[in-house]
Amino acid sequence: MNSLSGVLPKRKTVATGSPDHDFVVVGAGIAGATVARTLVDLGLRVLVVSAGKGASHAPVAILNPVRAQRGKAIPDAAETLAVARLLYGRFARLHFGLEHVVPPEAVPKWQANLKDAGIETVWRGHRLFLPQAFWMHPRTLIPALLRNIPRIHDRVVAWFQEGIWLQSGRFLKGPVIWAAGAEGTEITGLEGRLVAGTLLLTKEPGRGVIQGFFYVGGALGGTHRPVPRFLAHTPTHDEIEELRAKARAILGYPPTPIGAFTGVRYLKDQVLREVPGGFLFTGFGSTGHLRAPIWARRLARAIL
Ligand SMILES: Cc1cc2nc3c(=O)[nH]c(=O)nc-3n(C[C@H](O)[C@H](O)[C@H](O)COP(=O)(O)OP(=O)(O)OC[C@H]3O[C@@H](n4cnc5c(N)ncnc54)[C@H](O)[C@@H]3O)c2cc1C
Repeated sequence: MNSLSGVLPKRKTVATGSPDHDFVVVGAGIAGATVARTLVDLGLRVLVVSAGKGASHAPVAILNPVRAQRGKAIPDAAETLAVARLLYGRFARLHFGLEHVVPPEAVPKWQANLKDAGIETVWRGHRLFLPQAFWMHPRTLIPALLRNIPRIHDRVVAWFQEGIWLQSGRFLKGPVIWAAGAEGTEITGLEGRLVAGTLLLTKEPGRGVIQGFFYVGGALGGTHRPVPRFLAHTPTHDEIEELRAKARAILGYPPTPIGAFTGVRYLKDQVLREVPGGFLFTGFGSTGHLRAPIWARRLARAIL
């Protein structure tokens, strides 16, 4: 029995394009890995095709349901966290409890905003502790989610209603779940915003806080640099300086940088859409790790 049984309606007929798989998932970031695991748990046969790693393979990701700029919870915050915890908790260690440092003058507004959000909030002066929020290590989580799921390392060069062409010359029959993140917009030409960003890794663990930026598990992130099209991002001097200044402000002394991670986020209003030939499952912006599991469940409901 998987964690979704009983929640989802009975399986309808799936329009299989191939005798070997029910769906081809394009992308092995957090969106692709999450949806592949959710469908396999439900008894569907999935083939994953991915060209590389993408923005999801950050050393640390936070699952924070409260927007730090406005003090508002995301829609369905409690269910979003619960579904993510259920799925990820089977495959990775989750570190519970995140703390927002709120400007004192903004506390009444945050308290009013969060009153009916359905998530646990613990106020300690102007610090807001969220016991259900957590952080984790995606680099170990993603391979664990994909374990034992058939996978091809290749690049999709064209997507048609019947299936996809790969760089190697193979044609794979669909239906397709397109979870190819920012890089995938190069093929689909999908609209939305692309925002490059960098995380700074420091020897110091940080303080487990969110102060506009987050600083947990030795990772401080991230910067936001809008870009017109997808290109592999290289951290710029000003990004590193911005992050070092932030770490210094939180720690009270200069941090010891030991590395950096960069990626490009892809932000779109609608993250799940049925299209001829399959589904789009992309555009999670800065919250892919947080929101992919609940949307994978919604996608499963649309299929079954
Ligand atoms: C610096 C930074 C910090 C972040 N911090 C957080 C955080 O703390 N919490 C959080 O929830 N989110 C965070 N995010 C955002 C989150 O990482 C994204 O929402 C998420 O990575 C998007 O996942 P994805 O699977 O859609 O895309 P990606 O991770 O980009 O994966 C796309 C996949 O598709 C593959 N692909 C692309 N094109 C093709 C093709 N043509 N053929 C075959 N394969 C293809 C890629 O190789 C890759 O495997 C952060 C992002 C950045 C950049």
